[in-house]
Amino acid sequence: MIPFPIILSAPSGGGKTTVMRRVLAQRADIGYSVSATTRAPREGEVDGRDYHFLTPAEFRRKVGRKQFAEWAEVHGRLYGTLRSEVRATLKSGRHVMMDIDVQGARQFHAAFPESVLIFLLPPSGEVLLNRLVARATESREAHLVRLRAALEELEDVPRYHYVVVNDDLDATVRRVSAIVDAEEVRHERVPRVQSTTRALVSQLKSEIRRYANR
Ligand code: 5GP
Repeated sequence: MIPFPIILSAPSGGGKTTVMRRVLAQRADIGYSVSATTRAPREGEVDGRDYHFLTPAEFRRKVGRKQFAEWAEVHGRLYGTLRSEVRATLKSGRHVMMDIDVQGARQFHAAFPESVLIFLLPPSGEVLLNRLVARATESREAHLVRLRAALEELEDVPRYHYVVVNDDLDATVRRVSAIVDAEEVRHERVPRVQSTTRALVSQLKSEIRRYANR
């Protein structure tokens, strides 16, 4: 099996973190790439597990050293995917799943064209707005930033390979997992497909010859 990166995007509050955690808990063949960010940790978040929490100076230094496969400013904060995180997981033979915004997904896909892009769509405008409002920890301004970001994210849906309407958590988790299964057996990902097929063809041909000459 040839491991590949999987990107999950959704408007803020779209449930991608929950979906990703469930998929990761169910599948040992998928690892997670811990992103770096300059935003402050939320309650319960652990440095190195949820994010690598960096100062803006530390983040900029890593940008300068080209340590990010992609990075973007989201809601006024910097977020980025470390090449080292992605490489380490792929090297261990596991797919690597990431929760990144649309700008980052675009950059990442350019750097890793084999990646699979999945967009989680909220089932309705009402649900989307409720989820966005539900983050009551934020100021009015921060909230406006999120609404505008959600709008921008939705405009990028056509770039994604798959779109899953997240109306039911279990079904969404099943679908995302099924996408990974299907992508594993894409023609170009199957190891030695040409030589295996050639060997089968030549065996069949000699059998046909043997029978035809009887
Ligand atoms: P939050 O601050 O709520 O954890 O995440 C805010 C947004 O940042 C989400 O839309 C999430 O997808 C995005 N994000 C998280 N990690 C990364 C990353 O490594 N790169 C990019 N470009 N966006 C990220």
